[in-house]
Amino acid sequence: LKIGIARETAPGERRVAVTPETCRKLVAAGAEVHVERGSGAGAHFPDLAYEEAGAVLADGAAAAVADADAVLCVQPPAAAGIAALKEGAVLVGILQPQLDEARGAAIAQRGVVAFPLERLPRTTRAQAMDVLSSQAGMAGYKAVLIAAVLAPRFFPMLTTAAGTIRPSKVLVIGAGVAGLQAIATARRLGAQVEGFDVRPETREQIESLGGRFLDLGVSAAGEGGYARQLTDEERAEQQRRLGEHLRSVDVVVCTAAVPGRPAPRIVTAEMAAGMKPGSVIVDLAAETGGNCELTRRGETVEHAGVVVAGPLDLASQGAQHASEMYARNVLNFVQLLLKDGALAFDWDDELLARTVWPERPAAAG
Ligand code: NAD
Repeated sequence: LKIGIARETAPGERRVAVTPETCRKLVAAGAEVHVERGSGAGAHFPDLAYEEAGAVLADGAAAAVADADAVLCVQPPAAAGIAALKEGAVLVGILQPQLDEARGAAIAQRGVVAFPLERLPRTTRAQAMDVLSSQAGMAGYKAVLIAAVLAPRFFPMLTTAAGTIRPSKVLVIGAGVAGLQAIATARRLGAQVEGFDVRPETREQIESLGGRFLDLGVSAAGEGGYARQLTDEERAEQQRRLGEHLRSVDVVVCTAAVPGRPAPRIVTAEMAAGMKPGSVIVDLAAETGGNCELTRRGETVEHAGVVVAGPLDLASQGAQHASEMYARNVLNFVQLLLKDGALAFDWDDELLARTVWPERPAAAG
């Protein structure tokens, strides 16, 4: 069984799908692991460490993935990279095939058995493979650190000879995995933290991290533990109360998302402009359009004295730990595909059947 790892090619991507630790485990499971030289460099895993873990170092992506039975990645290869895969090869990563028609077509044409890990059902059994959660944790953490750097204020309360400094008020919008990590991080920095979500069960989670639940009188629990879209009236009420509240907030970290849809627009330009000068908004939802109307993908802009950052590479900014977690998620998933040192697909296993792309007819619906 040959497993191939090529260097990530997406701009700004520093993570890697296999670390020396998981490489060693794949080799122990009977795989021959071919790693393109430099694959781990962005996450500070040197080639030598892979070699010591039993990998075969390859010169160039083509050599790493040619003839590979399975290719593991963070971001998907471009259509041309997919055309270089062996016919029928397995491809595992955050593939988002629906976002790029050429890529989706290349996967289908090549007969590649793709497992876009973002499709994994979020069941208890899948938790150890849940890349959305592991990467969101890093993103939430980094978002708060960026806010702390951009803010012209301290986060903690300070009592000094030069007088007392009041703690910053941080509001985290959306208390999923990223939001909860943002709340925990802002608390550790000594800020006064509030969290807000449309799922009522988040109140307890926010409070358990030392945050205060901001009640805007809107509840929208949907299916599968995710949020549903709000009605127009619900949204208007949420907006009105939030706009008023934001006048007293120093930092907003936006993490609200509804799967498969553009990010909900929650903070309007007018609401942002109503914040105190020097306030900071960090918008994790920038990739899918942003929770704030002023957010620009990948940019930091200033509007009426309020700085709005829309970083796209937050998990990559913590590439080493993000890769460690991602690689363990991938290893746990690949173990579902391994039987006696070879690939085998148990389509009765819902984790495989519901993740594979293109959808298998039996699994559809
Ligand atoms: P996500 O990234 O899809 O969304 C982030 C948050 O935004 C969610 O909490 C959502 O409720 C919130 N949100 C959506 N619209 C909003 C709005 N208009 N205003 C305010 N907040 C809004 O979610 P996620 O972090 O990937 O996970 C969401 C849920 O899934 C959580 O309950 C999480 O615990 C659960 N989950 C379960 C498992 C598991 O059991 N295996 C694994 C991961 C996540």
